[in-house]
Amino acid sequence: MGIIADNISRISATLPEGVALVAVSKFHPVDALREAYGAGQRLFGESRLQELLAKIPQMPDDVRWHFIGHLQTNKVRSLVGRVAMIESVDSERLLRLIDAESLRAGVVSRVLMQLHVAAEETKFGFTPEELTDFFRRGEYRSLKATHLCGVMGMATNTDDPARIEADFRAIAATRRSITAMCPDLQGFDTVSMGMSGDYPTAIRCGSTLVRVGTGIFGNREY
Ligand SMILES: *Cc1c(COP(=O)(O)O)cnc(C)c1O
Repeated sequence: MGIIADNISRISATLPEGVALVAVSKFHPVDALREAYGAGQRLFGESRLQELLAKIPQMPDDVRWHFIGHLQTNKVRSLVGRVAMIESVDSERLLRLIDAESLRAGVVSRVLMQLHVAAEETKFGFTPEELTDFFRRGEYRSLKATHLCGVMGMATNTDDPARIEADFRAIAATRRSITAMCPDLQGFDTVSMGMSGDYPTAIRCGSTLVRVGTGIFGNREY
């Protein structure tokens, strides 16, 4: 068995019931993805649209793709209908566009709302307050072709385990308080958090979807 297949079996064996593994294959060649597929992996994550669109036809049809990168609004039309989930909805404008393009294409898009809780500055993602406010306004009810499946987020890039845990707990708590506030919101259950360095902590804090790249495929060559 190759090293990629080894890594997948080892990581999969540690995942509790109810936690799924996204193999983050960005920057890795299709041969590496095929080895993962051979080890039984069906869920893959990519963060760049062109790379994803090039890989889709080279992999078997039963692969489920998750888009996990920043999606530019002018690229929405090329992505909608191609993936099982868009994990990285980081603005209301992007959400509206995904909904409009999904309706136009006759598909329902499954998406996660991206939360920003980490200390690093970024313009991507909702703060917990912004996301809670979006749901409080009830605007999700006007979506016609989008299923809001939960939240995605990242912890601060730090060696401080207390900060990492606090970030993960904030992500999970935001999802819980939104479902408590919106009883008509069905299936807002997914908590995508945890990467190679911190996924065991994320699982303890309520993750249902871990996104592991380096831990499966090794270092990326940018
Ligand atoms: C690259 C990436 C990952 C995987 O990171 P690793 O540290 O290689 O496991 C997870 N989530 C997102 C959003 C990414 O861009």
